Amino acid sequence: MQEILRKSAMEQFSAIKNKEVSATELTKASLERINSIDEKLGAFNSLTETTALETAKKVDEKVSAGEELPLLAGVPLALKDNMNLIGSKTTASSKILENFVSPYNATVTEKLLSNLVPIVGKANLDEFAMGSSNENSAFKKVHNPWNLNKVPGGSSGGSAAAVSSCESALALGSDTGGSIRLPASFCGIVGMKPTYGKVSRYGLIAFASSLDQIGPFSRTVEDSAALLEVISGYDPHDSTSLNLPVENYRESLNNDIKGMKIGVVKELMSEGLAPDVAKALQGAIDTYKALGAEIIEISLPNLKHSIGIYYILATAECSSNLARFDGVRYGHRTDNAENLLEMYCKSRAEGFGPEVKRRIMLGTYALSSGYYDAYYKKAQQMRRVVTEDFLRAFEQVDALISPTCPNTAFDLGSKTNDPLAMYLTDIATISANLAGIPAMSIPAGFDSDGMPIGLQIMSPQLTESKLFNIAYKFEQSHDYYKQLADI
Ligand code: GLN
Repeated sequence: MQEILRKSAMEQFSAIKNKEVSATELTKASLERINSIDEKLGAFNSLTETTALETAKKVDEKVSAGEELPLLAGVPLALKDNMNLIGSKTTASSKILENFVSPYNATVTEKLLSNLVPIVGKANLDEFAMGSSNENSAFKKVHNPWNLNKVPGGSSGGSAAAVSSCESALALGSDTGGSIRLPASFCGIVGMKPTYGKVSRYGLIAFASSLDQIGPFSRTVEDSAALLEVISGYDPHDSTSLNLPVENYRESLNNDIKGMKIGVVKELMSEGLAPDVAKALQGAIDTYKALGAEIIEISLPNLKHSIGIYYILATAECSSNLARFDGVRYGHRTDNAENLLEMYCKSRAEGFGPEVKRRIMLGTYALSSGYYDAYYKKAQQMRRVVTEDFLRAFEQVDALISPTCPNTAFDLGSKTNDPLAMYLTDIATISANLAGIPAMSIPAGFDSDGMPIGLQIMSPQLTESKLFNIAYKFEQSHDYYKQLADI
């Protein structure tokens, strides 16, 4: 692998500005790396070489003309394949969209292109972002770069594997219940879910609209902060987008955290925690104490309900969002239908995979008139109760820490026949989506098999600056983030 690919995105950006490498050389190096190792990983559904090299060329022209470069210009990025890039396929890793070509750019894509970030390809995911292991892709599984027999986590497994293996320094993912943080944790990198509404969802294929949020993957906290600056901001195309100024998150990364109050989530430190993960969490507590923070045990008594709430709300919303895939307007249409109803039914039966079908059926059931009050309405009420747990917690502490997941990456195939076990993987991540708060996962050590462990940090809505600051201080106290998968 070329040395430049091991560097962080901000280091790559500096190297381009200082003319140590051209954006074209760097983009070609990234594409070569993908071509040489991705058969083993399966991180990409497709490559977008032409767009990437055109963007890189524009960067090099600016450099030659002595013009200033926008943030992260020239640094290769992988786009999760549920976000539109005009002229490229956006499949959501589903057969139903196998041949769907994006007719427009997502807002995040527009922002990346206007900052001249070369998009090298579309990253694999669980079909429609439903899953925790990236084994639900209709096309191929993604393998974990640290151990090819293990899952990378999902649903943004391709994005995480790409960054972890240095195929690209950056990627975007989407997080509805943990799909950025879980794969970041399993692959030993940084994954960040912003406050709901910080990043426009326009052009992201909707899964559960009240929970979905796009966010960055990177190998360092500074890169994560920089990429969020690039993609965030108000967008009139998304009615849930927050009309607030774009912040500079990098300014406060190194602020002193002495005297800050950091809560440890009691409910996530007990049952079912793998011993090595518990040890890493104790290490994190010790680090924060050494940095002068005050550690306080915090109880989130309703956290135990979060998976139940999520699997009613997320499935209800997805059953409605996925109604648009009907064989008429988008994607796959069956060849053998006798009438209109059969065309709808067969197109959907042939196009959707088993997990997506399961969710559509669960969600349709929860929304049906006889059960709406008992399930959907109750889940909405309980969502508020979980959110109130967080509001109470943040009266006492600046941020909360927990493991991102009670265990490290599991073996491919080990949970595919047990959907409930798979759903439980998200116990630590889902509640942040219910409450709409920002949360991230950063590398916090390795287990005895050498698999990465993730530390989750959560903070109140719109306190991304503080979140990055707390994450950065931990990152810089260790060299976990410098260790790279050997692939
Ligand atoms: N694993 C969760 C699910 O399967 C979360 C997915 C996500 O965040 N997109 O729904």
